[in-house]
Amino acid sequence: MNNCIFCKIIARQAPGEILYQDEWVTAFRDIHPVAPTHVLVVPNAHIASVNELNAADEPLVGRLFTLARQIAEQEGIRDSGYRLIVNTGPHGGQVVYHLHLHLIGGQRMRHPMG
Ligand code: 5GP
Ligand code: ZN
Repeated sequence: MNNCIFCKIIARQAPGEILYQDEWVTAFRDIHPVAPTHVLVVPNAHIASVNELNAADEPLVGRLFTLARQIAEQEGIRDSGYRLIVNTGPHGGQVVYHLHLHLIGGQRMRHPMG
């Protein structure tokens, strides 16, 4: 087993508030939420970042987006809106090197990008 915290949450070997899981993807609440809704949507397979994606991953990447939409509906923020963020590498502010999509909402976003 690698030392990845998200792999451990997915495998239920570390605590995490999992909202959805299937064979391919998992959604769980961020431990340090920056807004009323802050959910991480991740592939179950350990893919370190966008830099490691290839064409074979395209259906999986699409699945991350449709799961984000589903969680936004569950959280009641579909129509008020939300932000999806994928930090990549040092300049992108990536801290955990397991691909994840931040789903953030429940308040109007204040910070401009960049
Ligand atoms: P990044 O900066 O890599 O895009 O974001 C990593 C995110 O993972 C951060 O928002 C951070 O709060 C979250 N995170 C880090 N460790 C844990 C953990 O053990 N559990 C959960 N649920 N979230 C975590
Ligand atoms: Zn991982």
